[in-house]
Amino acid sequence: MTRLDEIAEKLEQVKERIAVSAAQSGRESSEITLVVVTKVFPISDVEILKQLGVRDFGENRDADGAQKAAAIDAQWHFQGQIQSNKIKSLCKWSHVIHSLDEARHFEIMEKSAEHPLQIFLQVSLDGAKNRGGADIEKLYHLAGLVQASPRHQLKGLMAVAPLAGSVSESFSQLAKIHRDFIGEFKDATSLSAGMSGDFEEAIMHGATHVRIGSSILGSR
Ligand SMILES: *Cc1c(COP(=O)(O)O)cnc(C)c1O
Repeated sequence: MTRLDEIAEKLEQVKERIAVSAAQSGRESSEITLVVVTKVFPISDVEILKQLGVRDFGENRDADGAQKAAAIDAQWHFQGQIQSNKIKSLCKWSHVIHSLDEARHFEIMEKSAEHPLQIFLQVSLDGAKNRGGADIEKLYHLAGLVQASPRHQLKGLMAVAPLAGSVSESFSQLAKIHRDFIGEFKDATSLSAGMSGDFEEAIMHGATHVRIGSSILGSR
């Protein structure tokens, strides 16, 4: 089996599972954007995916993303932890940021962005600091800053399910946070949630963007 065949098969399986979950929750699969997380995998895999029709790719590290985005024309997403000294570079190659959780990082984006960014704010579902994400109070403050920006667009919220506890409860908590949030930030209708292990659950709870790596590319 060639790498192309292997990736094509897994990609189809994931798309099928997305379609089934969408249908089960009374939604269209066209409402759900599949971001293929290519972190750790080579540019040749990104080329294959592009050939198979994938348009959205996600990276966790600035250096890797910069290199791949320079090689492959696509919509590039960043979902890793943001470091202040990397923001300038990040703003050059990425189009969508999923993991903004600090006002001071947004201030640098305002100053250094060369093109408009679509921004998701990462919300912490369990208060665990090491996995990123803002608490509710910080989230609203940050959203106010992004919404006031003349250039960048506030897309919505992003979260990663906590390691402990029920995924279903976590995503239902996230859905509630998002519903309340949209009450104030009406255009922030997107919800980035779901990875290989839990994307079906995330779709059931309203995810519009799923970020999937290993189910398509294999284990890292
Ligand atoms: C790595 C990563 C993903 C993709 O994870 P898989 O389990 O490989 O699908 C999605 N979101 C974030 C934030 C990640 O770090």
